[in-house]
Amino acid sequence: MPPEAFTDLVVSAPKSAAAGLTAVAISMKHVMGNAGLMRGTSAMLKLNQKGGFDCPSCAWPDPDDHRSQFEFCENGAKAIASETTLKRVTPAFFAEHSVAELAGKTDFWMDQAGRLTHPMVLREGDTHYSEISWDEAFELIAKELNGLASPDEAVFYTSGRASNEAAFLYQLFARQYGTNNLPDCSNMCHESSGAAMMASVGVGKGTVTLQDLETAETILIFGQNPGTNHPRMLTSLQAAVEGGAVIVGVNPMKEAGLTGFMHPQQMMGMLGMATPLAEEFLQVRQNGDQALLKGLAKVLVEDGTIDEGFIREHTAGFEVYREHLLSLEWAELERVSGIERERIERVARQCASGERKVVTCWAMGLTQHKNAVATIQEVVNLHLLLGAIGRPGAGLCPVRGHSNVQGDRTMGVFEKMPGWFHDAIDREFGFESPRKHGWDTVAAIEAMHEGRGKVFYALGGNFLQATPDTEYTAEALRRCRLTVHLATKLNRSHLVTGKVGLILPCLGRSEKDRTGGKEQFVTVENSMSVVHQSVGHLAAASDTLLSEPMIIARTANAVLKGRSSVPWLAMGADYDLIRERIARVVPAFEDFNERVRKPGGFYLPNSARELAWTTESGRANFATHALSCLELEEGELLLQTLRSHDQFNTTVYGLDDRYRGISNERRVVFMNPQDMKARGIGPMEEVNLTSHFEGEKRHARHYLAVPYDLPRGACAGYFPELNVLVPLRSFADVSLTPTSKSVRVTIELAS
Ligand code: SF4
Repeated sequence: MPPEAFTDLVVSAPKSAAAGLTAVAISMKHVMGNAGLMRGTSAMLKLNQKGGFDCPSCAWPDPDDHRSQFEFCENGAKAIASETTLKRVTPAFFAEHSVAELAGKTDFWMDQAGRLTHPMVLREGDTHYSEISWDEAFELIAKELNGLASPDEAVFYTSGRASNEAAFLYQLFARQYGTNNLPDCSNMCHESSGAAMMASVGVGKGTVTLQDLETAETILIFGQNPGTNHPRMLTSLQAAVEGGAVIVGVNPMKEAGLTGFMHPQQMMGMLGMATPLAEEFLQVRQNGDQALLKGLAKVLVEDGTIDEGFIREHTAGFEVYREHLLSLEWAELERVSGIERERIERVARQCASGERKVVTCWAMGLTQHKNAVATIQEVVNLHLLLGAIGRPGAGLCPVRGHSNVQGDRTMGVFEKMPGWFHDAIDREFGFESPRKHGWDTVAAIEAMHEGRGKVFYALGGNFLQATPDTEYTAEALRRCRLTVHLATKLNRSHLVTGKVGLILPCLGRSEKDRTGGKEQFVTVENSMSVVHQSVGHLAAASDTLLSEPMIIARTANAVLKGRSSVPWLAMGADYDLIRERIARVVPAFEDFNERVRKPGGFYLPNSARELAWTTESGRANFATHALSCLELEEGELLLQTLRSHDQFNTTVYGLDDRYRGISNERRVVFMNPQDMKARGIGPMEEVNLTSHFEGEKRHARHYLAVPYDLPRGACAGYFPELNVLVPLRSFADVSLTPTSKSVRVTIELAS
């Protein structure tokens, strides 16, 4: 497990505005420090440009028309610096460092080690990885997979960085192999959004464009920290504010990127003068969002400022919902939300003002709780009351965390795809795909732990660190016969292997892809359903790398040899062939090759945006759920795991979290000063955390307690380190998303 040594924490006052020239300086430090002047500069000039490559970090959309020459943020720059680094992790590196030694390194150290260059194998009993040829690697995978008693003993995991072409081939391979065990990182993030919205409005994706966000009158931002996790969103928020919009931030933590923005490409921002963002900031009680949303809806109903015409024409279930709202007591709504009635009324009346052009954005702060699906359906309810969906300046905006997580799902990476998708696959490829739903992430971990899952194959990602219950998940992976990871960089999942471990190094998104002897490009889909090209431009980190699509094609070809009519190698060598098949299987991708070659790509249709409700009722459904919130026992606090500003998902680029005033340390826990006092804990004193779940205890020791502006009862710390406290079987109703924002803990001084 990662070392527990402290690294000399320095604490300063949190920032009240994000970005500024400091962001430029830090971006340059990372890029020049890792990639050097030439490679770094050419990478930055191609990032997020039409004809360039898509940022491998978050899924924030690029402007349709004018793009700045520097169309990236500080964290986009860190992501590219990490991928384009000149450092290499070669067979010699692995000969020098045993797996046990590497496991004692930090995640930051691993990211700094460099790019993987050769396929590596760790055979049973080995202490060091050793080089293996590609052919041998694919034969080993084929032997193991074909040696299983059932295809359902295999798990095919996908990280949201995989391109559409790789994802489509991957799900096709898994299904022709015979299983739907296709867990993906969406299971841990926006699964709750998809489940909630599909039932309410018939789509699992956001209904707005950048234009809508920038022309909204009111923008509600729930459980999101855009300054770190979607930084270019701040440019659109600034444009909206300059257009007269009122932003309301809702978050237990007062995040700099919600309160102010210093645009680093504008004079004002360069001079350190920030555009104020959130006019109203509601430091909601942790997991108190549902109560707040019910309060907002109650005011609209009581004020009669609802869109009755829209409700009559488009919705179902209003009367039941209305009765429910009227039955709620304000005192209880204030207690559970932690927000005073007067402020709730003010925000509700702001939403009902003007043309009710309201956009609501949200992220993990809503999706990773037991009542997440019910809470997100309250967001939808609010928009149905206002008729704020399917018209300019209004709609729903779940902000995706990984660059192509939405695209992977569109391509069929899902353990329970609908029947029509299977029909299309079977028709197109002439085989019968399995219809029995597969394992999502939680089920896959349980299956591997219980010995029902025997081979784990990961298309990118850092499964061990991204998932909950780290020690349990590690044991699950160790019980496998084989673990395989496609990756660009070394990470902790590569060090916790099955009896045999394989690392298959692939091309990065920024790199030229000349697979099959021709210039290749891949495609991705962003948070606002724009499908566009990503074309690599830099020299590959090693000439032994293969592309993701070719690795999957060769895996499938080796495993399914002699029993598949799918032209795997031809498709692996020419992505146009993959796109031709996608065009015939996935709705709205007709003429895919032609349309995606247009600069900027194309928007996918969104039935909810068109007010065409593909729900069971054929209408937009109000969902009425009882008021709920996680109530703590005596002495407990509610922990949320979160990212620092120097990380993207599980990739750690540095030890600072500058907006929160943290330098040079990751082993911190943010606590309310009164909660610290009540436990006799002084500032920066060493503490141990224990999580409590159904009588089980999990421990995280040696953390420093940092007093922070948080509501009583709430605390926060970084993942992946604190994922060890998140119980695997603690997940959201319906979506089964791990409750990483709702972990019951006790915190005491370390003895
Ligand atoms: S906002 Fe997201 S996609 Fe855009 S450059 Fe930053 S990290 Fe990359």
